[in-house]
Formats: sequence, C-alpha cells, structure tokens
Amino acid sequence: MQVNTQFTEKKYPMKWSTEAEDAIKKVPFFVRKKVKARVEKEARSRSKAGITLADVLATQKRYLTGMASEVKGYQLDTCFGPSGCPNTIAPDAGLMEKIEAILKGADFLGFLKSMGVTDLKFHHEFRVTVAECPNACSQPQIKDIGIIAAKLPRIGDEACTACEACVETCRDDAVTIDETMPRPIVDLQRCQACGQCIPVCPTGTIAEAASGYRIQLGGKLGRHPQLARELPGIYSSADTLDIVSACITLYKAGSQKGERFGEILKERDIQRLIDRFGSKAMAGE
Ligand code: SF4
Ligand code: SF4
Ligand code: SF4
Repeated sequence: MQVNTQFTEKKYPMKWSTEAEDAIKKVPFFVRKKVKARVEKEARSRSKAGITLADVLATQKRYLTGMASEVKGYQLDTCFGPSGCPNTIAPDAGLMEKIEAILKGADFLGFLKSMGVTDLKFHHEFRVTVAECPNACSQPQIKDIGIIAAKLPRIGDEACTACEACVETCRDDAVTIDETMPRPIVDLQRCQACGQCIPVCPTGTIAEAASGYRIQLGGKLGRHPQLARELPGIYSSADTLDIVSACITLYKAGSQKGERFGEILKERDIQRLIDRFGSKAMAGE
C-alpha cells in the first residue's frame, strides 16, 4: 500500500522534546526550516513518533557538513495556505508546480558554476515564495521574487442594507459607509486586496473586481538588507509565470558571481518590466 506521507505528516505531527526545540532554534534561521524538515523526515524513516535532542544534533551535523551537495540553486516555498489556512485567496492551486518547473528549467546550479561560483552556499540560491493572502506569512518582502495572492473588491449595483459587515471585516479601514451615499466606498489606496469583505456582504453589493497575484522583486536580508519593490497592479497566474521567467533572464544577464537578484535589479529594469507587463495588470475600479 502506498502511504500518503503528506496526509500522515498533517494528521500526526511529530512531537518535539523541549531540548530538541531549543536546539533547532539555535540553527541559523536561513536553514532552520530545511533542517527541521530533514530532522522530521529522518525520524519518520526510522518510525519514530517524536524528536529528541540526539535526532536534531545528528541531522544538523549531516546537513551542515554536506551543505554544498544540498544546494540546488533555487528555493521555492509557500505559506500555510495550501495546508488549509482559511485566509487563502490563491486563484491557482497549481501555481507552485508551474513555478517549480520554471526554476528547474533555469538550471541555476549550472549557471552559478558557469559564473565560477564553486563554493556553493544557500545564500547563492534564487528565492521565490508564494503567500496565499496579503498577510504574507512566507515573507515575500525579503525574497528575490515574492508572489502574493490578491483579490480586489468592487462596488456593484445591488442595493446595500448598511449592515456594516464589510466595514467591520476590513482590517485596513478601507471601507466606509457615508449615510448620504447608497453604497459603501472602498479606498483602493488603503485596500490590501485580501478579498475578505466580499464573502461577508449578504447582498452582493461588494463583489470581486480582480483576482490574481501581486509581485514583489529584489528583497533580501544579509549585510545590506532591502525590502522588495512591488510591480503595480495584480497579475493573472499566466502573467505571473511570464514575469518570473523575465526576472530569471534579468538575473542571469546581470549576475557576475552569484549576487542576489536585489543587487542586480535596477530601477530601469523595474520600469522595463512595467512597460512590458503593466498593460496586463488588473486594477480596481
Ligand atoms: S499568508 Fe495568508 S493564506 Fe498564507 S498562511 Fe498566512 S494568513 Fe494563511
Ligand atoms: S479587500 Fe480591501 S477593502 Fe476588502 S477587506 Fe480586504 S483590505 Fe478591506
Ligand atoms: S456588507 Fe454589503 S450590505 Fe452590508 S454594508 Fe457592506 S456593502 Fe452594504
């Protein structure tokens, strides 16, 4: 019988001893998630139900000494949206797989080696993340490409009962009701495109204007940290993939020795991306 490990991992989470938890917190943050996942994977393969300090230390040692062989040239992760987070508004459940195919096809490892980067480290990897709502739990602001699911509201023609459910739901104070107006007003400057006001409206007065992804580029930590810059608008899944490909081309054209994308990406590059893709961006009404 084939075991669905994803289901098993969700249903039976591993128990970590206090000492093991303390030890994993000391692992450098940029590899902590990977090491933690590896500790659990190795423990499961030994049919263990819990993690001890010895498990962490053994895996950590194996992992860090073999780091060069672990580097695959890119990192792709997501938030907890696909695991059932109620806030998810991602319109394309298959986006991660499609991005992974692009990243694999880009052969970052071969590219880095061709640039003369032999002592490969995780910080050389090209990082992409998908957050399935504007809460941005997977930290798109500090990734080479951060993709954030977005859903913009619009005010339709249906009569509003002034129940104020939309006002109470909006955490960004973007919806206001003016007693002199028949319908609420959405301030798109404040709106974070979380889409939460849409399902709570009992009359359908607030409806969906656009659903897709916001795209942030060039974020990073390290000695010279910088937050990613956002392309204006919301993009379809297909356009998001095209932008990912265009960014990889930009990265490869500008990279000399494995710099982070944020060091390469210039304002003129952002402007060229806007010139190329801006007309496809969806915006609120
Ligand atoms: S980013 Fe949104 S959907 Fe993803 S885990 Fe956070 S709250 Fe949930
Ligand atoms: S979609 Fe915009 S207006 Fe609606 S709840 Fe979210 S932030 Fe507020
Ligand atoms: S939730 Fe709908 S009906 Fe209620 S105040 Fe907002 S727009 Fe009007």
